[in-house]
Formats: sequence, C-alpha cells, structure tokens
Amino acid sequence: MNFENSLAFAQQLDKQDSLAHYRNEFHLIKKAGTPMVYLCGNSLGLQPKSARAAIDQELNDWAEMGVEGHFDGKNPWLYYHHFLTEKAAKVVGALPSEVVIMNNLTANLHLMMVSFYRPTPTRYKIMMEVSAFPSDMYAMETQARFHGLNPDDAIIELKPREGEHTLRTEDILAQIETHKDSLAIVMIGGVNYYTGQAFNMQAITVAAHAVGAIAGFDLAHAAGNLHLQLHDWDVDFAVWCTYKYLNSGPGGTSGVFVNERHGNKPELVRFAGWWGHDEQERFQMKKGFKPMIGAAGWQLSNAQIFPMAIHKASLEMFDEAGMENLRKKSELLTGYLEFILKDYSQYLTVITPTDPKQRGCQLSVIVKNEGKKLFDYLQTQNILPDWREPDVIRMSPVPMYNCFEDIFRIGEALRRYYL
Ligand SMILES: *Cc1c(COP(=O)(O)O)cnc(C)c1O
Repeated sequence: MNFENSLAFAQQLDKQDSLAHYRNEFHLIKKAGTPMVYLCGNSLGLQPKSARAAIDQELNDWAEMGVEGHFDGKNPWLYYHHFLTEKAAKVVGALPSEVVIMNNLTANLHLMMVSFYRPTPTRYKIMMEVSAFPSDMYAMETQARFHGLNPDDAIIELKPREGEHTLRTEDILAQIETHKDSLAIVMIGGVNYYTGQAFNMQAITVAAHAVGAIAGFDLAHAAGNLHLQLHDWDVDFAVWCTYKYLNSGPGGTSGVFVNERHGNKPELVRFAGWWGHDEQERFQMKKGFKPMIGAAGWQLSNAQIFPMAIHKASLEMFDEAGMENLRKKSELLTGYLEFILKDYSQYLTVITPTDPKQRGCQLSVIVKNEGKKLFDYLQTQNILPDWREPDVIRMSPVPMYNCFEDIFRIGEALRRYYL
C-alpha cells in the first residue's frame, strides 16, 4: 500500500477497517478525558468491557450457590476449561485436544520441560535465543540443573551476527545442524520480546526434528499476535500467557499446546495432579494416575475460575474477529507505523525486521540520543509506548483496539519533538 502521512488518509483507513468497531469494546486509557494512544499491548492488553460481566457471573453463582456452582452454575466450574479450549485452539492453529488453559506461563513452561526435556549423556543440549525473556533463561538454567547438568555446558545461545540485532533463520538452522548429535531441544520465543522478531517456527521445527530434537516455543509475544499454525507446523509443544495480546488481565491464566503425537501417549513422563486424571473417574479418588488424552492430561489443579472467566470473554472476541483478519489489519497498522517512523531515521533506528513475516505488531526502536527524554515527551503527548533500558522504545499497535489515526498521532508528536 502507498501510505500517506495525513490525518485524512489515516481516517480513511479507519473507515475502511471492518474490525474498527472492536475499539469500542475496550476500556481505553484516558488522560484528562482524552484517550491515549496505547502501545503496550505487548505487555498488558487493555480490558475488554465484557470482562466485568464475565467476572460478575461467576461471583453471583458463587454467592448464590456456593459449592453447587461446580454443577449448577451457568458455566459449571467442574468443566470450566472445556469452555475455553476450542476458541483458544483456533487462536494458535491447533486441534482442540491439543490445547488446555491452565496455570501461569512459567509454571507451564516447566511442566512442558519435565515431559519434553529428557536429556541423555550424549543428547542433552537446550538451544535458546541469547537475551531471551529472563523467566525463560531462569527456567532453562534450572531445568539443566534439575538434571544435574551445568547450564553453561547444556545451554546453547543463538546470537545475532556482529553488528546485527536479530537472528537470521539460516544461522539458526545451521546451529541446529552443528549440534545435531547433542541437541535435545530447541526452546525459543515465537516472537522475541525485545526486538519484536518473529521466528520461522515451521523451519525451526523441521530442522529440529531432522536431527532428532524436540521443538518447543514460548508464545508469550506471539499468541493473539501472529497467525499461528502449531498443528500444521508440527510443533511439539508451546506455552503462552493471556495477559499480553490476549487481553485477559494482569497475571492472567496461560495456555499450553501439546502436539497430538505426544498427547495420546499416557506413558509420557509428567508431573501430575488430579485435574489431569481421566475425567470419568476423577472423583473416585483412586490410586494410580491415568491421564486424560491430549493436553488436558497435563492439568494439575481445578480451574481458576476468575482469570479464566476473563479469558473466556476475551476469546469470544478473537473467535468472532478471526486471527487471519486481525493479522491482516496488524500488518497494515505496523506497516503504517514503519512508514511514519522513516521520516525520523536520523534519530531513530528500527531494529525489528522489515519483513512482515519476521515480525508481529511490535516495532522496537533504538533512540540515538536521550531516549528516555523522548519517551517522557511522548507520554506528555498522550502516547503510551514502553521503555526498555538502555535506549529502546517498543511500540505495539494491536489490531483489536488501535486505529490508524493512533499511528498518525505518533507521527505528529515526533514532528513536534524533532522538527
Ligand atoms: C511475558 C513473558 C513471560 C512472563 O512469564 P509469567 O510466568 O507470565 O510471569 C515469560 N516469558 C516470556 C517470553 C514473556 O514474554
């Protein structure tokens, strides 16, 4: 598309946008009554207006029925995770049996590693991206130690080439090949939280499998952002949180994908709890764990109704809008932001790849001089990006509630600041 830096052009794109009405379904952050340009969906998505009613429903059932809400509630709590599975599976491109909503992200990452990181004396290495999100670094480090291994030896970090900010797919694939005899698992983010780079998960999975390794992904920054096809890509497992692009509230619940190839193997090692036990006989309280088939067999505890109620409400919107449509708008929105930022290239360097296939909605921008000052200025102009030391501003326009006029406003603020 040929973009134009004008209010009329931005408003025209908004008028043509079939998803534009979703903006009204969210509580926009306001300053002195004016909506801010919210660019922090990568960190905490905005609150869907439907969240409150979803919580109220469960509070009311609890108030009126007590324990009977497990059976007689509008959404019986005993089966609560079932109400989320199908729509969550669509968001990540999976079969319903391959997905379960439970726990929190880092806890789920550990649960998956218990099952899928089974090091042997020769095949024991974990490949991840350098400077991954700290929780992932700590998880991998302690997983190695859990198996009595030295993390410095067990973990291979993928590093960008000298002078580059992001990883080249060919270099990732070459590293997999280099370590083909010792590699147990590749576990990287679907989208890197810092650079905004989206990895070629399909190619990485194929390469990992070709050398006999497992491919797992942390989709914290990818779920609800990219058009994922986990089943078709033959990914082994994935985990994600729901409070970033999935707008399901601070500390919200998390999702897990287990490929059906693994989900129907009851003998697969795991850390179990009663909620993963065969549903038909869960309440017989018998000895001897018999897992449910599919990702559900990794559940530990009975459902956390309140965070899951919000997620349920949010997933309804994703289901209605469709990930493919959201992604189409997202490419346009981020493309427009990239176009607007080009005018300031002497001050700002975008480190996120320019290829739309290698990024989600986020652009990470290095500010060449006094970045924090620009960040503070943008906030005074009703624009809310996020700041990462030492010099990066991340901007994540999301297709569900950001509009093209938001992007135009960023350009206007930059013009006032620099020109
Ligand atoms: C946001 C994020 C986390 C946060 O983990 P929680 O367990 O939800 O606190 C972990 N890993 C990645 C890659 C993230 O982006």
